[in-house]
Amino acid sequence: MPVLHVIEPHGFCSGVKAAAEAAAKALDSRPDGAGGVYCLHELVHNSIVVEGLRARGMVFVDSLSGVPRGATVLFSAHGVSPAVRAEAESRGLDVVDATCPFVTRVHREVRAYAQDGLPVVIIGNAGHAEVAGTAGEAPPELVHVVNSAADVAALPDFPGGAAGVVAQTTLGTDDVEAVLSALRARFGGLRTSPAASVCYATRDRQRAVREYVRSAPGPCGVVVLGSPESSNTRRLAETARAAGAAFTALAGDMAGLSALDLPELGFFGITSGASTPEEFLESAVAALRGRIEGGCR
Ligand code: SF4
Repeated sequence: MPVLHVIEPHGFCSGVKAAAEAAAKALDSRPDGAGGVYCLHELVHNSIVVEGLRARGMVFVDSLSGVPRGATVLFSAHGVSPAVRAEAESRGLDVVDATCPFVTRVHREVRAYAQDGLPVVIIGNAGHAEVAGTAGEAPPELVHVVNSAADVAALPDFPGGAAGVVAQTTLGTDDVEAVLSALRARFGGLRTSPAASVCYATRDRQRAVREYVRSAPGPCGVVVLGSPESSNTRRLAETARAAGAAFTALAGDMAGLSALDLPELGFFGITSGASTPEEFLESAVAALRGRIEGGCR
């Protein structure tokens, strides 16, 4: 009979847990009759979490111009640039800062490189909120965002081949290594720091998926729970595929899970991104067990 394994660790990381708690506390401590609490961008990239907060009165905005003077605004786990912090202060906003400490470490490293006058190379996705916040720590003319070996080839020559390198915390570890190799092959004076790269939560979840696929006694499938907007969630599916899983799929909610066309395999693993609530995993496991172990897909 096919078997379903829950892959550990999975789900909320420490940064997301802290951000969710900060959001709940801000909503709970609103004075009676006060308006909503504002959140700059999505608190975390998960539609279940975001919709739950919206239902409790949280208002999500894409810029501080939409936040009334004096209101409470949350900065998400992804962090913000110093310019955004300054704008919040100048508008007299009451800031609740849920920036993850692992993101703060990357910011600190970028500031140090910029103070030394070094070009800063950020390995990451240019459109991601975390990368926008990180990039804002250095003058724009010093910052270069790369996501592939082709991007590295397109970089200008740096004086003395010197540059400081950091990475978005939620990338695939193998992808970051590939871009780092391309950077090292081209530039002889790189400064890097393991503390300013893929975080422990992202690494641990990818490692667990890789080990599950490689140690499965036969061809296996991996189902990843989480929103497609979530970088670390997408990477879990990519990691499973790269490790040799015969089937991988991403489901953002129970409807998405029901719609999956599961193949006939002896082994399935299920995991969830660092911003996916545990309740979703529990419901998904119960539903998948019925489908897989009951022999009805
Ligand atoms: S994924 Fe990593 S960097 Fe992002 S919130 Fe979680 S612990 Fe922090």
